[in-house]
Amino acid sequence: MSHHDLVVIGTGSGNTFLDERFAGLDVALVEHGVFGGTCLNVGCIPTKMYVYAADVAETVRHAHTYGVDASIDKIRWTDIRDRVFGRIDPISAGGREYRVERSPNVTVYFGHARFTGERELAVDRTDGSGTEVVTADRVVIAAGSRPSIPPVVAASGVPFETSDTVMRIDAVPRRLAILGSGFIGSEFAHVFSALGAEVTVIARGPRLLRHLDDTISERFTEIAAARWDVRLGRQVTALSGDGTGGGGEVTITLDDGSQVVADTLLVATGRIPNGDRMDLDRAGITVHADGRVAVDEFQRSVSAENVWALGDVSSPHQLKHVANHEAKIVGHNLGNPAELRATNHDLVPSAVFTEPQIAAVGLTESEAREQGLDVTVKVQNYGDVAYGWAMEDRTGLCKIVAEKGTGRLLGAHILGPQASTLIQQLIQAMVFGQDARALATQQYWIHPALPEVVENALLGLEI
Ligand SMILES: Cc1cc2nc3c(=O)[nH]c(=O)nc-3n(C[C@H](O)[C@H](O)[C@H](O)COP(=O)(O)OP(=O)(O)OC[C@H]3O[C@@H](n4cnc5c(N)ncnc54)[C@H](O)[C@@H]3O)c2cc1C
Repeated sequence: MSHHDLVVIGTGSGNTFLDERFAGLDVALVEHGVFGGTCLNVGCIPTKMYVYAADVAETVRHAHTYGVDASIDKIRWTDIRDRVFGRIDPISAGGREYRVERSPNVTVYFGHARFTGERELAVDRTDGSGTEVVTADRVVIAAGSRPSIPPVVAASGVPFETSDTVMRIDAVPRRLAILGSGFIGSEFAHVFSALGAEVTVIARGPRLLRHLDDTISERFTEIAAARWDVRLGRQVTALSGDGTGGGGEVTITLDDGSQVVADTLLVATGRIPNGDRMDLDRAGITVHADGRVAVDEFQRSVSAENVWALGDVSSPHQLKHVANHEAKIVGHNLGNPAELRATNHDLVPSAVFTEPQIAAVGLTESEAREQGLDVTVKVQNYGDVAYGWAMEDRTGLCKIVAEKGTGRLLGAHILGPQASTLIQQLIQAMVFGQDARALATQQYWIHPALPEVVENALLGLEI
């Protein structure tokens, strides 16, 4: 049995706060997968590197719109893949080497951690060489989440990919079926169709990206349906076949009797927190109904003393910038018990790097109305500003939700090129309390730059 001052489970965001402040402590890190966690290895970063390649391919395909004739000679998928992982894998290996070789106060355990008692863990070594018992004064659970697999898929025995595996495949499938209509499915639909696959998206709900503002979700669903085979309001009733991209195919039967035949199936039906595989109850650590570790505003377990949690395993937001923020809070609070800082979950922005890009912050129009706020809304099309003309953009929009009378910004929703960049100014204004009128009129807006779509949306609000 080994005892440590602090044990951190998970090397994603859990590895980010262990800086010089912890140099005097005996720290243990436990990791059962690839060092560095989801964002680096199988999440944000590799997906966006693929998205960039996909965007380039789409730019070439549409170059004729601007009088530039061009065509794609070939998509070198394995080169794209190797560029992505040739960049990422060394970063993961470097992070691992730093902790194992050059962090004298840190012991890394490569194995699966599960609780056997209060701040007592059994770590089943990944190499199968046995189990180690580890105890600690304090434990941080930063164990993340994993793809959720619907029972009908799991029970079928049909091979499938998830976001964990699909980026490493050897070739672009000719026909890709994507189960799920959230941000991960929408990003991969863009990547694979831009790189040559025929994509079918199967969605349970009546629209794609339903968690977003209705105007955005409706517009995106129209755009997607023109580009991919989109099956809305459908459940999978049966699967058969052996489609793995290696020559076989999979047949997916839907509840209206229709079928989708594909070479590869990608399951992107959400992610579940990893706490369910850690015997949390043996340490008295309570969870929410959806499996997230229950924490207070300081990231402390609400039920187990000296246990903390951060990131996807406990957070209401499965986003890396939120996990990073929570890790900073935990890093501070562990060293400053008399001056605890609270996590700030106000105004969490998010983006979907599909085609077109989407970004959002604050309330949707429906949420604002449900809260009984006196709401004014303006939807400004990209196509109405000069840069939108330059781009021949016909689908982009910026929607701003504000409070009548005060001009308080309540929410912003952008669909179109550079949405994730354009929204930052609105995030800043909302966080620092600038009202719509002041934001629109008390600064210069560069003409004829794309942010004019934001300026015009602000000016169009009936405050
Ligand atoms: C395809 C995809 C794209 C994404 N794109 C974006 C994006 O563009 N922007 C964004 O903000 N977010 C994005 N996300 C979400 C983001 O990746 C996560 O919110 C973030 O990485 C969560 O960080 P974390 O530290 O909580 O968990 P992780 O980074 O997952 O770290 C948890 C670690 O704990 C390990 N672990 C789990 N259980 C145990 C155990 N019992 N014992 C030992 N080790 C364990 C895991 O192996 C893992 O390494 C994306 C996610 C996916 C899947």
